[in-house]
Amino acid sequence: MIMAIAFSVSYCTPGGKKKEKNNEKEFKVLTEQFADSKILRYQVPGFDSLSLRQKKLIYYLSQAALCGRDITWDQNYKFNLLIRKTLEAIYHGYSGDKKTEDFKKFEVYLKRIWFCNGIHHHYSTDKLIPGFSPVYFKTLVQGTKKEDLPMKNGQSLEQFLTELTRLIFDTSVAPKRLNLDPSQDLVLTSGANFYEGVNQQEVEKYYTDLKKADAKLKKDQKVSYGLNSKLIRENGKISEQTWKVGGLYSQAIVQIVSWLEKALTVAESPEQKTSIEKLISYYKTGDLATWDEYNIAWVKDDSRVDFVNGFIEVYGDPMAMKATWESVVNFKDIEATKRTQILSTNAQYFEDHSPVAPKYRKKKVKGVSAKVITVAQLGGDCYPTTPIGINLPNANWIRKEYGSKSVTMDNITYAYNQASLGNGFLEEFAYSQEEIDREKKYGHLAGNLTTDLHECLGHGSGQLKPGITGEALKNYHSAIEEARADLFALYYLDDPVMIQYGLIPDLEVAKAEYDSYMRNGLMTQLVRIQPGKNIEQAHMRDRALIAHWIYEKVRKDKTVEKVMKNGKTYFRINDYDKLREKFGELLNIIQRITSEGDYQAAKELVENYGVRVDPELHKEVLARYSKLNIAPYSGFINPVFTQVIKTDTIADIMISYPDDYSGQMLFYSKNYSFLPAR
Ligand code: ZN
Repeated sequence: MIMAIAFSVSYCTPGGKKKEKNNEKEFKVLTEQFADSKILRYQVPGFDSLSLRQKKLIYYLSQAALCGRDITWDQNYKFNLLIRKTLEAIYHGYSGDKKTEDFKKFEVYLKRIWFCNGIHHHYSTDKLIPGFSPVYFKTLVQGTKKEDLPMKNGQSLEQFLTELTRLIFDTSVAPKRLNLDPSQDLVLTSGANFYEGVNQQEVEKYYTDLKKADAKLKKDQKVSYGLNSKLIRENGKISEQTWKVGGLYSQAIVQIVSWLEKALTVAESPEQKTSIEKLISYYKTGDLATWDEYNIAWVKDDSRVDFVNGFIEVYGDPMAMKATWESVVNFKDIEATKRTQILSTNAQYFEDHSPVAPKYRKKKVKGVSAKVITVAQLGGDCYPTTPIGINLPNANWIRKEYGSKSVTMDNITYAYNQASLGNGFLEEFAYSQEEIDREKKYGHLAGNLTTDLHECLGHGSGQLKPGITGEALKNYHSAIEEARADLFALYYLDDPVMIQYGLIPDLEVAKAEYDSYMRNGLMTQLVRIQPGKNIEQAHMRDRALIAHWIYEKVRKDKTVEKVMKNGKTYFRINDYDKLREKFGELLNIIQRITSEGDYQAAKELVENYGVRVDPELHKEVLARYSKLNIAPYSGFINPVFTQVIKTDTIADIMISYPDDYSGQMLFYSKNYSFLPAR
């Protein structure tokens, strides 16, 4: 599972966390801004002190991370690659004037679809609307060499143009990548490329039947059904097309495997070697039982260099079954990891004292391995926008029996923090100077600890009733699961035990987090929603749900109070202890819903508190925000690793930090594009 995708609005504290990083003041974090997005760079401190073997491992894994890029694009929408290849051909080859306003708008559109790995907004999943007209698009296509355009055999330019114009400009064609409105057929109304020729009912029936058939054959039914395949109807028959060598996406997967095979030669430990071997075997066979074996091996491996590479998260599928391809290459930050080790070591304490019903607590919390990592490369769904923490594997039974790995991406949060210095956001929305000061003093620590608690303990806590699976909550699963982990973190942040463990100097840290969490859930996260739209994204629904549920319960006694000042809305917390109690109360409710797979209750909670937006407050927040001129979303440019060859052997791996976003995107399209346009 991914932890909150950080965005500038939650990082408003001054930096200065690490001295060594402060020395490199000249390092430019923010490189450019367009539409609602900004582009940042992240540093990889400590890379130079790794051994040559570890550097080689990072190099090979980074190559593997880049080779899957096209898979993510194709999964997001069937025509994404066709559109990208068309636009890039125009970008390179258009013979007309490239200095006009229209061409600049074309460039912005291309930058946006690079940013989103496709034509749908990465966060809202709405189709992006180009700022230029279909007429201008025609001019661009006609001004580009025909042989450079990804046209079908026998297709005329006219037909090609009609097809592309429809795909790009027609707002009724695939208006959303992900539709979670339960009153509609989720499969038919979502643009994501996980199903073809089948409706929601058929998908549900297919997998119910498959499980029944497996039960009869006494086959392993713990596997994550449907995780690595597209479900299609062909000649009237519904079947899975698996993403594997020799299957769908074979051309890209073959490349990934070849780099993984190189990584195998420099693996750091026997456990890591086993896990890479299992992953290769899984990519070759597509066998989901092998995928589980890989995950078990991966959990057991505690090497310094680590990575994620595969079909991992199911947020992109309205049925929460099919996983989007992603990769993160990283190595452990040994010093910072001491913080999370304290949490892991004491995991049982947290579980035993959690405010949920005893029957839904884990009797024995196993192997909650937590660490702070330094990211070295991002790929697939994690590039260019990235989570700030990951907790894997996702299969509940593996988490229960073997534990999970939880990571906080420190160099990424650091970059966010640096980029948000002095942007005025906190000053605009915080109620008092006291709040602002507290946030500046403790905000970064509070944010990091909340992430740690959410990842190390939150997701791994609790247990399901026998026979209940994670899929029971269907389209509400992600929001409920994130709320569960958030509430666990919020509840414990204010526990005196945190001081006892030496994690925080005093409970003011928790107050800083409570202020910003409630402010965000009730108000400031609305800056990411367009007027008239509902909240769709799982993490945003989670935050809205928690904040609104609590606000409704405590409005009368003013534990949390809405205050107007100079015509502006603020939320002030009057009783932090009472608020903590409420976090615990809601955690208990949400754990019960999860444990029992209570779909109806999940639906009511999410729909009543997590989806709708108060139009008046929304308008006000957007107006206040627009004055600050901050782009709410951040994406990252990857560092580049280069081999230093001396007498035919690799003598070293050098790291460099390019600052040209478009250049990197075009470089990837040229060198790491292995799938056809259609
Ligand atoms: Zn999470």
